[in-house]
Amino acid sequence: MTASLERRWLLDELVSKGVRITAQRRAIVEVIQEAKEHLDAGALLELARQREPNVDRATVYRTIELLKELRLVDELDLMHLEGEKHYYEVKTMQDHVHLACFRCGRIEEFSSPLFERLKAEISKQSGFKIRVTRLEVGGSCRACAADEVAGEHKDRDAKKEATMSR
Ligand SMILES: [Zn+2]
Ligand SMILES: [Zn+2]
Repeated sequence: MTASLERRWLLDELVSKGVRITAQRRAIVEVIQEAKEHLDAGALLELARQREPNVDRATVYRTIELLKELRLVDELDLMHLEGEKHYYEVKTMQDHVHLACFRCGRIEEFSSPLFERLKAEISKQSGFKIRVTRLEVGGSCRACAADEVAGEHKDRDAKKEATMSR
């Protein structure tokens, strides 16, 4: 993983901001921190309960709100691949772009100095003070794109064969 995709360390940041860490809150924060994929509130609740059975839905939502307010997590739509759900992730040191595959549902993360430059240019030229940036790209991942090309070739070959055998 590149350094720019390194995540912030939630518990440390919360403690340094004077936030009281209850057992419920700790469980939720640890789940978000250790997540290998982007989780929605339902998945967060389920995983947090495995650590701390008392965790309830309201605490999950309150904790998410708190983390969002402190700008420690980002909220994502991920191209609504699965409807209207929102997903949460710990902010990376540098913002990243999400690539959502419409075929297999894979979500890739992509970071580039160009994205940082674009943000700087926006601020400079429009005088806009950026708080959140979110860029999601939808399409076909490398594997699915290769599949599509293979599929097109197959169709073409089948058509060719059909005309030749006439
Ligand atoms: Zn795919
Ligand atoms: Zn991400």
